[in-house]
Amino acid sequence: MNRKVVIFSAPSGAGKSTIVNHLLGLHPELEFSISATSRAPRGQEQHGKEYYFFTADEFRSMIAEDKFVEYEEVYAGSFYGTLKSEVERIWAKGHVIIFDIDVQGGVNLKRIFGDKAFSVFIQAPSVEVLRERLIGRGTDTPEAIEKRVAKAASEMEFAAGKFDHVLINDDLQKAFEEAEQVIGDFLKK
Ligand code: 5GP
Repeated sequence: MNRKVVIFSAPSGAGKSTIVNHLLGLHPELEFSISATSRAPRGQEQHGKEYYFFTADEFRSMIAEDKFVEYEEVYAGSFYGTLKSEVERIWAKGHVIIFDIDVQGGVNLKRIFGDKAFSVFIQAPSVEVLRERLIGRGTDTPEAIEKRVAKAASEMEFAAGKFDHVLINDDLQKAFEEAEQVIGDFLKK
């Protein structure tokens, strides 16, 4: 059976959901992994569509029962995780799983799935471009700009070597093409 997974991670605002949705539209064999969470649904979110929603107590019981591939307490009291049953559900259909997950979760999943996984880190353009954008926006003090730039730089450094591919989302059309290329190659393997 074709037990593969594709992982997309990014610091917030790098455009990962847009790229994941683009790939889902192109490849019918890709299926989105629905995470479990203990946070409350937002807006029109539905159980079994965006997330599987549970109370924090239910989530803790499931942790104790070893039901997760990985999980994290992303905010105090708010758990997020990938259920083993979700992975099996998608693989049982012969589909390839696609994850849209935070950077730490992405690194954990790559470690767990190894060669079955292809992981992509999406990065905003260079530190210089980021700095220019922030200066041009004129809403941050020079200290705040340097803090943001340093954070982006450290996220890039953290990601370096931990992902199979780093995709710079400078131009969305080019980012789509690059994602199509690397994911297309992985799916063909
Ligand atoms: P949100 O509450 O905005 O939907 O998500 C908050 C954060 O949790 C995001 O960074 C998202 O990527 C992350 N997240 C969503 N699902 C999972 C998961 O299954 N595992 C982990 N580790 N993080 C997740």
